Amino acid sequence: MHRVKLGWWGPEVSEVCFGSLAISPLQGRITGQEGQEVLRYAVAQGVDWIDTAEIYGNYDQLRPVLKESPQVRIVTKSYAATAAELKASIESSRQALGRDILDIYLLHEQESHYTLKGHAAAWEALLGAKSQGIVNSVGISTHTIQGVRAGALQPGLDIIHPLVNFQGLGIHDGSLEEMVEAIKFAGSMGIGIYAMKVFGGGHLTKEPEKALDFIRSIPEINAMALGMSSIEEVDFNLSFLGGDSISSELRKRVTAKERKLYIADWCQGCGNCVETCSHGALSLGDGQACVDLSRCVLCGYCGRVCPHFCLKIV
Ligand code: SF4
Ligand code: SF4
Repeated sequence: MHRVKLGWWGPEVSEVCFGSLAISPLQGRITGQEGQEVLRYAVAQGVDWIDTAEIYGNYDQLRPVLKESPQVRIVTKSYAATAAELKASIESSRQALGRDILDIYLLHEQESHYTLKGHAAAWEALLGAKSQGIVNSVGISTHTIQGVRAGALQPGLDIIHPLVNFQGLGIHDGSLEEMVEAIKFAGSMGIGIYAMKVFGGGHLTKEPEKALDFIRSIPEINAMALGMSSIEEVDFNLSFLGGDSISSELRKRVTAKERKLYIADWCQGCGNCVETCSHGALSLGDGQACVDLSRCVLCGYCGRVCPHFCLKIV
């Protein structure tokens, strides 16, 4: 497993971070216990950091693994906007994760300079937690180009976790080229960067090599969080990135899984996806999108237009 340094100020970690959304109850792909086993397997292969967030609701799932493996670092994120909210989030994270010190703490989904301005009190409290030694590195996660640019200029910021993949799926405010430029800008300022949604939320899993190679082709991206919910996915990703040969059987198991469109229950019913689907597979009912699986061809086009990243092929 390649080891990398997260920017000028961040820790040295494995190139792959375990993206725990994929094993969390929020996605519901597998049981909590099955998810723990996949995570344990990844840790045994050398993955030494885990990405989570308050909203994933999986601290209980992660705590036993963190206890067994004290070398594993943890990243979590909070939507806190005020100092009091941020302090409460940090305290509940420390307790629920069983860690006195949180390795990396991010403000969740900071989409522009204005969002960061609106979270100024939380940011100051986060810097305070860092100076107290209860958080080691601080930063933001973002789905936007403006978020990356604003984060790069944020005083005291160590790490950005931006959404980036080879098709630019899910970037809210511009093109993939603009996102890559913003990442290069942040990287040139010493910010540690680890990529999010490398497989486009499940829409790019038919071309896993292309997805992983693309991230590696951008030198300013130090590492990547990969959502993995099976042993096969761990084997495939780590073998490919390690330069090992991959059997055709393993590739088939990873890419030829039976897939379907999954609509997250936080759908806001905006209707963007319905307008986009030329197969007439989507409709609105009870204020949320619904899919007719008999019409859906799994093209993945609807995922590009969802502002809330609700649509995934799982
Ligand atoms: S994956 Fe393609 S066919 Fe299926 S609902 Fe989305 S746009 Fe329509
Ligand atoms: S685009 Fe997203 S939020 Fe809007 S209706 Fe479709 S799934 Fe729901």
